[in-house]
Amino acid sequence: MAYSHEMRAAFADEIKEIKESGLFKEKRFIHSPQDAEIEVEYPEGAEKDRVLNFCANNYLGFSSHPEVVQAAHRGLDERGYGMSSVRFICGTQDIHRELQDKVTAFLGMEDTLLFPSCMDANAGVFEAIFGKGDAIISDRLIHASLIDGIRLCKADREIFEHMDMGDLRNKLEAHRDKRRRVVVTDGVFSMDGDMAPLREICDVADEFDALVLVDDSHATGFIGKKGRGTHEFFDVMDRVDIITTTFGKALGGASGGCVSGRRELVELCRQRARPYLFSNSVSPVIVSATIRVLELLTETTERRDKLEENTAYFRKKIAEAGLNVRPGDTPIVPVMLYNAKLANDMARDMYAEGIYVIGFFYPVVPKGEARIRVQLSAAHEKAHIDKCVEAFRKVGEKHGILGLDEKGIVDKYGL
Ligand SMILES: *Cc1c(COP(=O)(O)O)cnc(C)c1O
Repeated sequence: MAYSHEMRAAFADEIKEIKESGLFKEKRFIHSPQDAEIEVEYPEGAEKDRVLNFCANNYLGFSSHPEVVQAAHRGLDERGYGMSSVRFICGTQDIHRELQDKVTAFLGMEDTLLFPSCMDANAGVFEAIFGKGDAIISDRLIHASLIDGIRLCKADREIFEHMDMGDLRNKLEAHRDKRRRVVVTDGVFSMDGDMAPLREICDVADEFDALVLVDDSHATGFIGKKGRGTHEFFDVMDRVDIITTTFGKALGGASGGCVSGRRELVELCRQRARPYLFSNSVSPVIVSATIRVLELLTETTERRDKLEENTAYFRKKIAEAGLNVRPGDTPIVPVMLYNAKLANDMARDMYAEGIYVIGFFYPVVPKGEARIRVQLSAAHEKAHIDKCVEAFRKVGEKHGILGLDEKGIVDKYGL
C-alpha cells in the first residue's frame, strides 16, 4: 500500500501548515435556499442562525426567485434531469441552442457556446483560438481561471500592470511582430469591484491590431443600463471580440458559463475547446432556468435598477457611518481594514450581529490590503441594508476605526 502511515502523516502536516499560517478555509453549512436572508449552521453543529447575507454573488436575487425555480421545474419535467453525454455526441437539446441564441442576443455578440462553467470556458478558449506565434497580454489581476486557461495555451504570455494603459501599450509594442495579439481583462475585478477601462483598452488594442477578450462574470446581467455588461457600460459593444461569463452568479447562480463573440472564434471553440468536447453538457434544469432569467432581464431592467439603487444607498450610508470604503460603481464594496486579523475579527463580530460577511486577506488580496468585501443584491431591502450599516457602525466603534483613513487604521493596528 503506497498510502503508508508516513505518507498520511506528511500530507496531514501540509494541512497543519495551512492551518498554522491562518489560511485554512472553513465552510459554513446553509440550511435554506440562497437569498438575502439565510439560515446558517456555524460553527459546524451549532444552533442555526438566521442572518442577512452580504457575501453572495446573487446580485439580482435570482438564485431562489420563484419564476426561476418554476422554469427549472419546467426544464426538469420537459427535458429530464441529465444528458449523460457531452454536447457533440448526444448532449445537445433544442433548449441548449435556444439558450445560446438568447445569450448571443443579450450580449450583442455573433455566436455563443455553452460550457459547464466559466472556469471551463476560460480553460478552453485560449488553446482553441491562439497558439505558437501569438501573444496573450493580460491585466495583472485577472481571475485565476483565466490564468489557468492561458497556461494551457502555447502563445507567449505578457502581463500589464493593473489598468495601466501606458504599460499595456508598451507590452503590445513589444509583441508587434507576433502573428496575433489579444488583450485579456476582467470586466469587473472581484476583489476591488473596479471596472476595466474598456474604451481605452479597445483604443489601445486597435493601435496594435489586437483582439480584446473580457471575462464579465461579475457584470453580466446588471452592469450597463440594460445589464448587458461592461461593454455596454463603456459603449464598446461592437469592439469587444470575445466575452466569457458565468451563469453561476447574477444569472441564477447554479452553474454554467459560455464563450460569446465573433462567429469564427466561437466556432473554433466548438471544434477544439477541450472542456466543451470532454466535459458533460449543462443540465436541462439549468438551461431552462437561465433562459427564463434572460427573458426576465430583457423584459424589464427593474432588478438591475434596484441593485443600482441599493448599491448607491449602501455606499452613501456606510461612508456616513465612518467606514473606509473603496470608491466605485459596482455592487462589490470593499470595506478596507488593511490588517488581516482586524478583518477576520470584524467579520466574526458582524456575524454575531446577524450579518454574514467575510474577511479577505493575503493571498486572496495583496498583503496589507485586508478587507471585508460587501456584495449588494437586488434581493436586499432598505431595512436589510440599514441593519448591515448599523452593524458595521457598532462593530467599527468597538474596534475604534470609525472615521479613520488608511493611515489611521494602519497606525492603530499595523499591517
Ligand atoms: C466566478 C468567476 C469565474 C468562474 O465562474 P464559474 O462559472 O463558477 O466557473 C470566472 N471568472 C471570473 C472573473 C469569475 O468571477
